[in-house]
Amino acid sequence: MNLARILARSARTFPERSALLVGAKCVLTYAALAARVARMAGYLRQNLGLAPGDRVAIYMGNSPEYLESLFGVLWAGLVVVPVNAKLHPREVAWIVANAQARLVCVSPELAAGLAGALDESGPAVPLLMPGEGHYQRAVSALAIPVQERAPEDLAWLFYTSGTTGQPKGVMLSHRNLQAMTACFFMDVDPVACEDAVVYAAPLSHGAGLYSFPYVVRGCRHVIPESGGFDPDELINLAGRVGRLALFAAPTMVRRLVERVKSSGADPSGFQTIIYGGGPMYGDDIRAALDVMGPRFVQIYGQGESPMTITALSRSLLADRSDPAWAQRVASVGVAQTLVDVRIVDREGRTLPNDEVGEVVVCGDTVMSGYWRNPEASAAALRDGWLWTGDMGSMDSHGFVTLKDRSKDLIISGGSNIYPREVEEVLITHPAVREVSVIGRHDADWGEVVVAFVVLDPAAADVGQDELDRHCLERIARFKRPKEYRFVDALPKNNYGKVLKTSLRLMLDDGQAEGMLRDGRRPQQSAS
Ligand code: AMP
Repeated sequence: MNLARILARSARTFPERSALLVGAKCVLTYAALAARVARMAGYLRQNLGLAPGDRVAIYMGNSPEYLESLFGVLWAGLVVVPVNAKLHPREVAWIVANAQARLVCVSPELAAGLAGALDESGPAVPLLMPGEGHYQRAVSALAIPVQERAPEDLAWLFYTSGTTGQPKGVMLSHRNLQAMTACFFMDVDPVACEDAVVYAAPLSHGAGLYSFPYVVRGCRHVIPESGGFDPDELINLAGRVGRLALFAAPTMVRRLVERVKSSGADPSGFQTIIYGGGPMYGDDIRAALDVMGPRFVQIYGQGESPMTITALSRSLLADRSDPAWAQRVASVGVAQTLVDVRIVDREGRTLPNDEVGEVVVCGDTVMSGYWRNPEASAAALRDGWLWTGDMGSMDSHGFVTLKDRSKDLIISGGSNIYPREVEEVLITHPAVREVSVIGRHDADWGEVVVAFVVLDPAAADVGQDELDRHCLERIARFKRPKEYRFVDALPKNNYGKVLKTSLRLMLDDGQAEGMLRDGRRPQQSAS
């Protein structure tokens, strides 16, 4: 079954319901949205001659046309290649060439840059751009019905951020996305038809995948006028639109919570805030629950098993009467309903409860492999299990606690140190706004712990002695940072994840020294 059938079904069942809003204003009903999508699908297949399985890249900022193009491509039986709008045109050209995309849907403001990069990189690929005649013809062409697809046919080719080497195309089928959507209702949120989902995070990533359950229920889809994340705009929209749901990276949640707190805004217009994609520190989720109440759900997933490894439900997060609550909120929850999760050693043997190993997952949500990359596929998929590269443990109740990516583990003097343990301690210091911990090569210790710290501007007198004392009172001596780097901001990717690779490069080329407070050179703390 073609996943796009969910839109056809909702349009038939609830034709007059509001489907697409820009800000608080409705721009399309379900009937109107499905009609435009069906016509665009007809244009892609009949006018442009694209064949089932052809890839179409979408390189657009969040906009109503993004959702139209996404469903138009799927409806036509083609494959969506979602591309982050913040990528450099050259990176996009690389993805377009690797996916052998036959068309790129592109926002007007990104088109000129992309056209230049595509010219440099090889054969011409046509562009479809909202606001231009070509696009108008597309949404006025002859409509076609949803095209048949088999469950295992490719639907979504998502390029991983590629922190090492070139990005890899994760192949997701209609079945993968259907299983992900089913898990959403079972493990994340049942969703009521009155809910409205707001796209504050890029539609090219998790937020776009989470459009599907809200189409199933015939909910409103809200594009913020800013096209992205602005806490004040979201607070305003929650008041005007009501029952707002959103997917947000932990850094976005933190900023939203701070703003709700400082402005004294009423959080009741927020229905559900789903967070994931990176670690949420215990202190942050506690503050979020205090300020905004039981509106949060956590998910843990990765492109290769999208949004679907574990989930920590709203009720578990909110139930402070549970004696295990503190451990629970520090976990990523339990395996989602349609997947099986294990913690294994290097040979793939299941480890006893509470022992740290690699998280592996299997189920209908797991990708079939990487696009035209059999070596990478064989390394990630073994005997039907996806090796996530994440280290973690599982307790006797099935709760998974993540440590770090296996490659981020620091081995100092033969002892394993998980950066997150150190980060969790440093973040509790009132002067620390953000922190990221990495290992640096050291001749004596193998590696030593280095902490990159963003301090609250009001706490200018806090230095490494103070932070060292703070760590010594809370964690083993050998785990505490040997070196602190005070920086104005942490390097993050477009989804708000801290780029540890960039921090490592800053150490390697000495760049970070220029970022030390007061012009001091980095010091080593005594062991
Ligand atoms: P991506 O494929 O870009 O979505 O990145 C997926 C990675 O983000 C996972 O393999 C984890 O390392 C991390 N991640 C995702 N969700 C969480 C979460 N809830 N808590 C901690 N890390 C997470």
